[in-house]
Amino acid sequence: MLATLVVSSLIDSLIVIRSTEMDGVSESDLENINKFMELALHQAKCAFDNLEVPIGCVLVEDGEVIATGFNRTSETRNATRHAEMEAIDTLLEKWQKCSLSKSQVAQKFSNCILYVTCEPCIMCAMALSILGIREVFFGCANDKFGGCGSILSLHKSETDNKCRQVDGASQSKGFKCMGGYMADEAVSLLRSFYEQGNPNAPKPHRPVRVLQAPQKS
Ligand SMILES: [Zn+2]
Repeated sequence: MLATLVVSSLIDSLIVIRSTEMDGVSESDLENINKFMELALHQAKCAFDNLEVPIGCVLVEDGEVIATGFNRTSETRNATRHAEMEAIDTLLEKWQKCSLSKSQVAQKFSNCILYVTCEPCIMCAMALSILGIREVFFGCANDKFGGCGSILSLHKSETDNKCRQVDGASQSKGFKCMGGYMADEAVSLLRSFYEQGNPNAPKPHRPVRVLQAPQKS
């Protein structure tokens, strides 16, 4: 009963994200976004199969997937190994092998789009901003640690973001960011993960809305 109420309240809030943030996206853009979100969801399912919090992502350059990633925090026993970090490190390693210069790497990141099933946390959003990623599309919101609108808005350019001026991270560039894409699927996967009572599961801090107590109306 509680779970039903929570999920129904969650779906309501995600529908709000979708209707407000998807304005101005053409049909063909949406088709493209959904295509890559499907691939990100596939990565999230790989995480699920590996008993990890099911969040996945793909990095795309010129319409092609150039890196993928999913959460590996349990396997690595490293709380920073989020899907985004996995994909970024794969790319950096690849580009390092090609002996790309720092400016070439920056140039390549500025052409990349990230598709991730859950809003990047503050750590990942800051990393993406410093790297100068072009654009991010995400599925469900991350109410507790979200760095793209939920808690902080690190995707906004520095001039728009006073927090960043205070913390001195002057190199962050900001990026275009929109959420709510295939959010139901992302939430459903997270819900299955937490409902199965996995003993390896870390405390469910990221998909906060899944666990939030329903508000009395
Ligand atoms: Zn993260």
